Amino acid sequence: MYSRRKFIKVSAAGASLAALSSSAIARSTLIKPAANYPIVISTWDFGVAANQEAWKTLGNGGRALDAVEAGVKIPEADMNNHSVGRAGYPDRDGHVTLDACIMDELGNCGAVAGIEYIAHPISVARLVMEKTPHVMLVGEGATQFAVEQGFKKEKLLTPESEKAWKEWLKTAKYSPVINFENKQHIPGNQYNHDTIGMLAIDAKGNISGACTTSGMAFKLHGRVGDSPIIGAGLYVDNEIGGATSTGVGEEVIRNVGSFLVVELMRQGLSPEDACKEAVRRIIKKKPDTAKEIQVGFLAINKKGEYGAFAIQKGFSFAVCNAEKQDLIIPGKSFY
Ligand code: ASP
Repeated sequence: MYSRRKFIKVSAAGASLAALSSSAIARSTLIKPAANYPIVISTWDFGVAANQEAWKTLGNGGRALDAVEAGVKIPEADMNNHSVGRAGYPDRDGHVTLDACIMDELGNCGAVAGIEYIAHPISVARLVMEKTPHVMLVGEGATQFAVEQGFKKEKLLTPESEKAWKEWLKTAKYSPVINFENKQHIPGNQYNHDTIGMLAIDAKGNISGACTTSGMAFKLHGRVGDSPIIGAGLYVDNEIGGATSTGVGEEVIRNVGSFLVVELMRQGLSPEDACKEAVRRIIKKKPDTAKEIQVGFLAINKKGEYGAFAIQKGFSFAVCNAEKQDLIIPGKSFY
């Protein structure tokens, strides 16, 4: 039973708590709201065009989820981009298999891995999130679902991709190349490769992210990297921020990279320091492998502060906000 004494104690505590929270509310009205959003950031220099597409939604007060989906569809549709979407390089056996995932401010997420014949895996991932009780569909099941949802089934292997694959078959040496992504100025070259990871905060302060790729060029058939895996290639927690990754997916998966970056931000690290610590752990676990490969993380926190860090030099990211729509920032790195 509640004694009178206890009651007085509790109500006094309640009253002081109420006083505290009303003074906190009064104080918070004096604090200028964060003006760092809407904002959208994405991996690599080619993120500029994708960000600008996302900005059409964000700049008009639209939802971050819609913005990131629309944004990453730009490289997915780009015929000169040989590792995202339609023109992605095939796997070792000549199949173009695509990976993508998406996550919204409510913690909803969807993914497809190893999907074939569908040019916009990010939109399929979104429908997995919105129309099924599942998070991830793979291979034939993912393609079947996409067709049922009205996506066009088409041959994705372009003549250029086929030529590059046949050239590669002559030696068939599988070795991940550092900063594949920024070598896209070499036309038709097998290094013409990229993964786009995008994070956006809309005018309401809600965060969403998307990640899409064809993964490592000429990978083993069935290989899935980090990009479609929630927590590895992408993670969003609307209370804290979001993170995404690019580079050798195996190392990111081993360290649950994007989730780790978000958790480090939760502990108080800045986006850049959180990315740096996640990269440091990858290097620490496999110092010799790390010298040969690239992994980069990109992150944004709830205030709209962003940062990145990579193993090797050469990583970059693109930022778009009300002030500037075509910013490219070189990522810091250990080597
Ligand atoms: N992270 C991608 C993967 O491992 C590839 C990349 O970003 O280059 O599939």
